[in-house]
Amino acid sequence: MIAIRPGERVFVLTGAGISAESGLTTFRDPGGLWRQRRPEEVATPEAWSCDPKLVWEFYSERRQRAAAVQPNPAHYALAKLEASLGERLFLCTQNVDPLHERAGSQCVLHMHGELMKSRCDRCLRPPFADEQLYMNRDVPRCPCGGQIRPHVCWFGEIPYEMDTAIERLENSEVFVSIGSSGTVQPAASFAQWAGRQTVARHARTYYVGLEDPVNSWLFDEVFLGKAGEQVPKLFRVEDV
Ligand code: NAD
Repeated sequence: MIAIRPGERVFVLTGAGISAESGLTTFRDPGGLWRQRRPEEVATPEAWSCDPKLVWEFYSERRQRAAAVQPNPAHYALAKLEASLGERLFLCTQNVDPLHERAGSQCVLHMHGELMKSRCDRCLRPPFADEQLYMNRDVPRCPCGGQIRPHVCWFGEIPYEMDTAIERLENSEVFVSIGSSGTVQPAASFAQWAGRQTVARHARTYYVGLEDPVNSWLFDEVFLGKAGEQVPKLFRVEDV
């Protein structure tokens, strides 16, 4: 169990593993998304230039799946933690699914974008809510003439709002990563940044997941198990 002392700020990073029990496949586990397709076929700017229809088919299928699933106890536990800690909790997810919001989390940084949003590949029009499926049809166009693309960070692109995430990492006393294999940068380095701020001040670092992540040496403690079983009993808020 992780004790959150009065006034302490908590940074939670979630990965594909937190949504596995909801029925969304992870990237690297057996049966995961990248076992079915190579990333460069569907999740790179080059793939978008070559075959935007194929890219939209892949993301339309993922939209369909994400629309059909429900949050699990781990998502609900983090929404409850936010209700208790308020702005002292910073929830950053690598996931593009909307399960944290569906569980009731109000403030979530989606560093790799959001599956249920689209944006223009040319103009600076902000990303917009979009749950449509673009299968067997032309790629939609923006009024500016650009093509509408998924609001998802592809391989080779820069994750979103990293300044905000780093500022919060440097100002948190507790860092918890849940269901992330520790193979995708820059998220895989978050535990390192949080854990070695200064000699006098550094965050306590924890991992929750089915197995040790590849960056396990960065964590003070590892809780092995399913997120849906571990996370609801993970935190004790010691506020007065
Ligand atoms: P990953 O696939 O690399 O690793 C998932 C980790 O979760 C593994 O270590 C696995 O052992 C663990 N895991 C599996 N089931 C679990 C469970 N029930 N409880 C706890 N842990 C479990 O995922 P990652 O590190 O997030 O990889 C990064 C990329 O995957 C991100 O870019 C993310 O955008 C993308 N992704 C997102 C989704 C989603 O939005 N739901 C789904 C697949 C991939």
